[in-house]
Amino acid sequence: MTPQGIDNGGIVGEIFSSFQGEGPLVGRRQIFVRTAGCNLRCIYCDTPRFRSRLDICRVEDRAGSGRFRQVENPLSPEIVMDLILRLRSPGLHSVSITGGEPLCQPEFVEALAIGCRAAGLPVYLETNGFSSTRFSRLIDWIDFAAVDLKLPSHQASSPEGRNELVENELTCLKTASRFGVFTIAKAVILNSTVPAELESIYPRLEGLDIFMVIQPASGEHRPDPKKLMRLHEAASMYLDPEKVMVLPQVHRMMDIL
Ligand code: SF4
Repeated sequence: MTPQGIDNGGIVGEIFSSFQGEGPLVGRRQIFVRTAGCNLRCIYCDTPRFRSRLDICRVEDRAGSGRFRQVENPLSPEIVMDLILRLRSPGLHSVSITGGEPLCQPEFVEALAIGCRAAGLPVYLETNGFSSTRFSRLIDWIDFAAVDLKLPSHQASSPEGRNELVENELTCLKTASRFGVFTIAKAVILNSTVPAELESIYPRLEGLDIFMVIQPASGEHRPDPKKLMRLHEAASMYLDPEKVMVLPQVHRMMDIL
């Protein structure tokens, strides 16, 4: 039991209803459960507030209202399921379990994914892929998986830990693809990213049934468009070109969560 007496209690940063803003499912209505706490430190992180554990989770009171109330962490999977069901709305596509890093809380995320499935809600897991072991344990409960490919220019981990991180991410992608999960590999491209960082990974994606999302960073990290063209062409040599795309974060453009 946790000190608060909640088995598998999760540290959650926010729960709300919005649109998926990245990748091939952009524009789909989702309920987002953003776990708080992350083991990496990417220089472009767009959710820095949620890299640490939080005492308080904010919860939207009605789908699309933009009004939030506060609840105390940790939250049991049952309570989070109840909050999710209250945000259910017509046209809901799936529940996005995102972060922070969900795999930092594997028991909680597994219980939540099972709960979503039981309620007939497909599960979209967004992860940095740092643990293929933890990811594999969830595979039976995931319908969609978006796995990051962290590049040296992201400075996500120590240089010594980089190889292990990439190997785990690749194993996550292979596992998801093999199990028939709708699988998305995402690489954020910065102005400091050297194309070879990603091009050296492409051959290892060959043969996988995955979408490859090349996502230009915005703001101070925005890359040269020529770099995006080159990376798109290179990816299309190893993957189905129909599944290779360059796409920025659309929710930022719309100024929504
Ligand atoms: S893995 Fe995600 S949440 Fe963690 S530091 Fe990187 S971008 Fe931020």
